Amino acid sequence: MSQPGASVEAYRAARGEVLDRIGAACARAGRDPGEVTLVAVSKTVPADALRDAVAAGLDLLGENRVQEGLAKAPDVPGARWQLIGPLQSNKARRALEVFESIQSVGSVELAQRLDRLVPEVRPGGRYPILVQVNVDLDPAKAGFAPAELDQALGALLGLPHLAVRGLMTVGRLTSDPAEARQTFRDLRALSERCRGRWPALGPALSMGMSDDFETAVEEGATVVRVGRALFGERPRGHGQEDHHVPDTVSR
Ligand SMILES: *Cc1c(COP(=O)(O)O)cnc(C)c1O
Repeated sequence: MSQPGASVEAYRAARGEVLDRIGAACARAGRDPGEVTLVAVSKTVPADALRDAVAAGLDLLGENRVQEGLAKAPDVPGARWQLIGPLQSNKARRALEVFESIQSVGSVELAQRLDRLVPEVRPGGRYPILVQVNVDLDPAKAGFAPAELDQALGALLGLPHLAVRGLMTVGRLTSDPAEARQTFRDLRALSERCRGRWPALGPALSMGMSDDFETAVEEGATVVRVGRALFGERPRGHGQEDHHVPDTVSR
């Protein structure tokens, strides 16, 4: 897109379309669209394109790699960043500096490390996280198994510098909408069950991506993470590592 402003317009249109689809899914489910936050998943999208995306209103960006988010953030003023992928503890400090929240906390050890760093890196409040759940027990995915969640929450909710806003999951790779739906239903049921026991657990449900965000919204998603439906297909072999496809499976 060589014309100035052309890509801003294209992003504005893509954003409008995704928001319309979220709105329609909310209407079907009797929900208020104001309850659903759109995170634009910007992995593999270069910083100059992201400046146009921010100008088009896509200012809440999700990255699945710490390094990539750190590299792009200084070049995209006005954006807010969330981490939606794996975090190694040696990058925890940098991640806290750049990301306003981490959706992909899948171990108590990582949470404890973040909790120790927050007073230094983000003093004065609790840092918001989501707890990642491997609802379908997929060996290629991160997150707590549903059976471990209850005990893990006992530890996570006791950490004084974190606010556990809710749960996150990555859906299955399936062309069957009923299968995708089941994962979302399971996460919501887990959330309700756990909140009965742990009132400090927040109600957020981050679930749904380009192929299934409408189903996720129908099933109660409060956060959807949408990449390709906004930015187009990613180059092959990039950004898919912890997508819902194991490395050995080609699409
Ligand atoms: C890549 C990714 C997404 C977005 O996937 P799309 O299919 O491009 O919408 C959402 N969540 C996670 C954890 C991802 O890694």
